[in-house]
Amino acid sequence: MEEINKELREIIRSLKGYMKAESLAGIEEFYLNPTVVHGDGVRPLAESLSLESLRNEVANCKLCPLYKTRKNPVFGNGSPKARLVFVGEAPGRDEDIQGLPFVGRAGELLTKIIEAMGLARRDVYICNILKCRPPENRNPLPTEIAACQEYLWQQLEVINPEVVCCLGKFACQVLLNQDLAITKLRGKFLDFRGIKVMPTFHPAYLLRNPGAKRLVWQDMQKIMKELKK
Ligand code: SF4
Repeated sequence: MEEINKELREIIRSLKGYMKAESLAGIEEFYLNPTVVHGDGVRPLAESLSLESLRNEVANCKLCPLYKTRKNPVFGNGSPKARLVFVGEAPGRDEDIQGLPFVGRAGELLTKIIEAMGLARRDVYICNILKCRPPENRNPLPTEIAACQEYLWQQLEVINPEVVCCLGKFACQVLLNQDLAITKLRGKFLDFRGIKVMPTFHPAYLLRNPGAKRLVWQDMQKIMKELKK
């Protein structure tokens, strides 16, 4: 009995932590049954449930050594019905601590970009190629990318967005299987399994090179135009 109580306390603690993290990210509603009121009425929450089962898989994942050094996996968050998904490289220090994507200084800049587009973070979905932080924020290794990328493919399959915005070199290289520099790729829509992909600079790059914000804004305007079609 004592063992069961301990497990229950652990589950409740995890649930509280998860709900707190989601509410910090602007998610205000939590559903405990398989239907959800979602703008135009009640519809099955199959997509969200699938995202949740993927989230659970990631939470227990040991497919690459990064699970040993992560504080928290960073699965992704936002709307499970998002028309626009942002994909970055990997969690950094702040993301690792909070278990949420893009919450550091680069994340604040991404939030400003999203708001300048007339959207909120809860309208889009934000995730990374890698779900666990590489130590000292080093670049992801090819073996880590190979181990983790299937989670991203499945997230995109469930969400089925109209547009994906790739943030930075790694996201573009992995999603588009391209070796070209981001300066050559950005600004034009490319294709990933029938989804339009707009490569652009990572917000962390913009913090170091504010002059490139103008180019990113041009890319965002193309995305806004596409979403209005
Ligand atoms: S980075 Fe991806 S593949 Fe590696 S342990 Fe984390 S979730 Fe698993």
